[in-house]
Amino acid sequence: MRPKIVAANWKLNKTLNEGLDLVQFLLSKTNEHDNVIKILCPTFPLLYPIHQILDKNKKFYLGAQNCSAFERGAYTGEVSAAILKSVGCDYVIIGHSERRKIFNETEDILKEKLHIALKENLKVIYCVGEELNQRQEKLHFNVVKNQLENILSLNEDQLINVIIAYEPVWAIGTGINATPKQAQEMHQFIRETIATKSTEMANNIPILYGGSCNASNASQLFAQKDIDGGLIGSASLKGDEFIQIIYAAS
Ligand code: PEP
Repeated sequence: MRPKIVAANWKLNKTLNEGLDLVQFLLSKTNEHDNVIKILCPTFPLLYPIHQILDKNKKFYLGAQNCSAFERGAYTGEVSAAILKSVGCDYVIIGHSERRKIFNETEDILKEKLHIALKENLKVIYCVGEELNQRQEKLHFNVVKNQLENILSLNEDQLINVIIAYEPVWAIGTGINATPKQAQEMHQFIRETIATKSTEMANNIPILYGGSCNASNASQLFAQKDIDGGLIGSASLKGDEFIQIIYAAS
């Protein structure tokens, strides 16, 4: 049985006080026994203060939205996987389409990040997903297959610490989610692609859906056979709505 997982990607939102208020609200509304692995991914400066609240209370895990491709040294402005681990992170998002597109993160850069994060014992939420024109040209399966190359190059001990997030770029922040059928079709394809390496790994790897997932569509999406939960952007910024999404996964 694969676990259900709901992860919040706060992106560049929430000041310290706003973030702490949201965490306190979420803690007051959730219980530890809902069988959902819940992960909060705030901005870097909020990680440690939130960790201090969560540490006393294991209802939510902490994740970062990115990590450096370098381990340490003269890289001004970077934050390493080891530093993330030291401030209480258990997870890191790698390969988000905004990082790929706006910050020009190539497959080679993502491979470095993936290996460094896993070496530091962080679990990786690895994002893949096609652009609208690629889907219109029916290239979406090929695009995602190529993006999975870095994952296929991992050994089984590494793969066990990877979660895949399928996030079609045309669905992110647009209010237009993939239909449950479109999402299931791609999730199944991702699982079949992992199965070319190991059937057992393919059966065990969690695959999350992301892209305008909200309280109204989460239940239908999460009910699909190969959808193991969600990576949630905008809807994770509103406490009530995020709680409803967690309920939808439980
Ligand atoms: C995301 O960017 O990871 C995401 C899923 O965003 P949204 O839910 O806002 O589409």
